[in-house]
Amino acid sequence: MKWSEDADRALKKVPFFVRKKVKKKVEDFVKQKKKNLVELSDVNELKKKFLSKGGMEKVIKGYEIATCFGGDGCPNLANPGTMLAKDIEKIFEKENILLFLKENVKEDLKFHHEFRVALSDCPNACSRPQIVDIGIIGAVLPGIFDEACTLCSTCVDACNENAVTLDEDKERPVIDHGLCLMCARCIRACPTGTIREKEKGFRVMLGGRLGRHPRLAMEVSGLFSHNEVLQIIKKCLKFYKKKSKQGQRFSHILSSVDQIMGDR
Ligand code: SF4
Ligand code: SF4
Ligand code: SF4
Repeated sequence: MKWSEDADRALKKVPFFVRKKVKKKVEDFVKQKKKNLVELSDVNELKKKFLSKGGMEKVIKGYEIATCFGGDGCPNLANPGTMLAKDIEKIFEKENILLFLKENVKEDLKFHHEFRVALSDCPNACSRPQIVDIGIIGAVLPGIFDEACTLCSTCVDACNENAVTLDEDKERPVIDHGLCLMCARCIRACPTGTIREKEKGFRVMLGGRLGRHPRLAMEVSGLFSHNEVLQIIKKCLKFYKKKSKQGQRFSHILSSVDQIMGDR
């Protein structure tokens, strides 16, 4: 959607960490008016609505699912989470998180009460999955296959984590999975197919937040399939609904991933 110059200037004054969210809210608001240009008057009108008593509550959905731009052709894309995001949204709608918040929070609902999920299609993590309640990263586990290795070193150069070395005697690459972030760069780089995709899935991290007491999310070890991620999310919401009182954030009631994954 197009933005007029003065509307765009107003958007640039919004703190960077909420700018994307504000941009989406304004564009949704303008779409409802059947317009395709955002003007300063639209920005000001929405701002006024937000600041009026109970104004923010009217646009609170109870949860937010942020995604990166990997699906739009990003060359770094490892595993796209587009379909996963849609299925996660269905779970949140079914669980009616908004009603849960309305019943539990005594004050007007604000954005900070919302349950936040972020999906990134590669470990570059542009949608910042480390600082939300549930973070998901598209990932590819590299494997070493029978095709002859020419010892060209392209895979070594491609890996920013120094996770690939070459065994010159055996003429084979070696991957240190303790260092590997599953970004797929070495797979894309290898011209012979010696390093190829072994498994595709998602990394999952839980309990991150910003605010007064920020914390990075804790990673659940492993690589998870689409359906396994959905199961983890269902467990997280069950735990959240059971333990959260008066709008406590998921990250404040979760001290270890074992509280969610204990019975796996
Ligand atoms: S997280 Fe990765 S795939 Fe997504 S936009 Fe950023 S670099 Fe591209
Ligand atoms: S997948 Fe990425 S991090 Fe892992 S070895 Fe390959 S290039 Fe390195
Ligand atoms: S694994 Fe592939 S990229 Fe790496 S050295 Fe061998 S042929 Fe080159």
